[in-house]
Amino acid sequence: KAAKEGEIIRMRSYDTQELSETEKNALLQRPIIDSSEIISRVTPIVNAVRKEGDKAIREFTTKFDNVQLNEVVIRAPFQVPDLPEKVKAAIDQAYNNIKKFHEAQLSDTLTVETMPGVKCTRFSRPIERVGLYVPGGTAVLPSTALMLGVPAQVAGCREIVIATPPRKDGSVVPEVLYAAVKVGATAIILAGGAQAVASMAYGTETVPKVDKICGPGNQYVTAAKMLAQNDTAAMVSIDMPAGPSEVLVIADSTCIPAFVASDLLSQAEHGPDSQVVLLAIDLSDEKLAQIEAQIHEQALRLPRVDIVRQSIPKSYCLKVSSIDEAFEFSNAYAPEHLILHMDNAENYVPRVDNAGSVFVGHYSPESCGDYASGTNHTLPTYGFARMYSGVNTGTFLKHITSQQLTRDGLKDLGPTVMTLAEVEELEAHRNAVAIRLSGQYD
Ligand code: NAD
Repeated sequence: KAAKEGEIIRMRSYDTQELSETEKNALLQRPIIDSSEIISRVTPIVNAVRKEGDKAIREFTTKFDNVQLNEVVIRAPFQVPDLPEKVKAAIDQAYNNIKKFHEAQLSDTLTVETMPGVKCTRFSRPIERVGLYVPGGTAVLPSTALMLGVPAQVAGCREIVIATPPRKDGSVVPEVLYAAVKVGATAIILAGGAQAVASMAYGTETVPKVDKICGPGNQYVTAAKMLAQNDTAAMVSIDMPAGPSEVLVIADSTCIPAFVASDLLSQAEHGPDSQVVLLAIDLSDEKLAQIEAQIHEQALRLPRVDIVRQSIPKSYCLKVSSIDEAFEFSNAYAPEHLILHMDNAENYVPRVDNAGSVFVGHYSPESCGDYASGTNHTLPTYGFARMYSGVNTGTFLKHITSQQLTRDGLKDLGPTVMTLAEVEELEAHRNAVAIRLSGQYD
């Protein structure tokens, strides 16, 4: 239940010693998202954009965003907006750090001679045309434009299309436009939601069709990405499924309560559905009380306190008795963000098996990774950190392999290939080797 005004804003509290396995497992679950209802609302939007193109985008933008669009797409070169120097400098610094980290992720061509005369190679090529969804119309989210745009730029994508809900006057949020110029975006679609995703998946008379769509967004955006990915006619892939943002904090007796509370709240202010978990390793009652008091006091000073009143009571603190127990739970939960509030926290990073991004030690708040340290903030939520990586340079590349055999190499490897072809009863496969080894064409 949400905390009412005047009530203490506090998390639920559990102790693993007092929980059954079933109860502990229940704490690992995220709220169930009923996608069927959303899919049924989004399907007609996607179909309409596919059939009617820009006309449908205009109609949905009027209906859902209350904006009359002059133009659906603007193309580079864009007019660079006038912004305060301080804001430009901050975007520039974030851009430089994100670029540095994502450039380092580019890898050289890999060449391995698996046997004499048998050379295997792997090399990468950019995905040619990518669509980046930058959420928000009233919100200002240049950071998401950077987090998606920089790796696409570093990967060398030829066409970088950004879709973002327009402001009330039909224009692009200036900070997003500034970031779009920096990442070399080629087009900006002035639309949000499912209609924007559908337009990039299928293309319209003005919107370029893309090969991959990346980026976070609300349930309509996510549903449209899923629908497009499953439609072979769209021939488009997506980065990952997305759910509400989340953080798991591990704190031991060396933690600083005010810092712990500030990190929990920076996640809780995202939205009423934000997932916030604190794992307290053997913390004294006094330290726990200090964290609770800090949560309440700091929350009251936030402009978004009303959101926090909803998200914090849904969140919980789980007392665990050892470091082993903390990491076992955290790895099972697979959080989007994991923060380690411990002295010498770097010593515990090797224990992390599942997480989107890790924030190591007292002076590494999540906010730095959200904006400017250099790591990416588009990360797997909902437990998908078990099998998905966050957006990275590789998201915008594909790897191609090649092999080259010499005549001697084929002589050595050929019998193995022919035997396996025989086992699989694929005679043409066997023959393609046999004909070369027959000596007939030497
Ligand atoms: P959004 O851009 O995702 O969605 C806005 C669009 O939704 C509008 O343009 C509108 O066309 C469409 N829409 C609104 N109501 C609709 C309806 N009833 N039917 C169909 N379409 C409708 O912006 P948002 O809603 O503010 O959501 C942003 C989401 O992105 C949040 O969930 C936030 O947590 C997430 N986010 C995540 C990150 C990250 O990197 N993890 C960063 C920023 C935002």
